[in-house]
Amino acid sequence: MADCLFCAIVSGDVPAEVVHTTERTLAFRDLNPQAPLHVLVVPRDHHANAADLAAGDPEASAELVRTAAAVAAAEGYADDYRLVFNTGAGAGQTVFHTHLHVLAGRDLGWPPG
Ligand code: 5GP
Ligand code: ZN
Repeated sequence: MADCLFCAIVSGDVPAEVVHTTERTLAFRDLNPQAPLHVLVVPRDHHANAADLAAGDPEASAELVRTAAAVAAAEGYADDYRLVFNTGAGAGQTVFHTHLHVLAGRDLGWPPG
């Protein structure tokens, strides 16, 4: 999709530190990490958010989660990591190409009470 940052990363037009690839997904380090491990897993095909991806390509949706687990394990956090899909600007989504945040390596707690 034109003018999509993560499509440009998938195509290689914008550089990123890629840590894992599969047939349908790409995983790369977040530019502004919020934890010692902060990786984004994206489908190679453009979908705006997690629900669109699940509806349009369920296998890629499942592969996103499998890739996230593989990345966490490869980085030494097999048992303790957080997966996040921000959906909608009001919830903090800034890039409208589905991406699964993989966060680990600090006390993540839970949304502050
Ligand atoms: P969102 O806020 O949409 O859930 O997450 C977007 C994420 O993309 C943010 O955590 C932000 O730091 C990351 N990001 C924005 N631009 C770039 C970039 O050019 N390269 C990489 N690797 N990450 C980016
Ligand atoms: Zn895209």
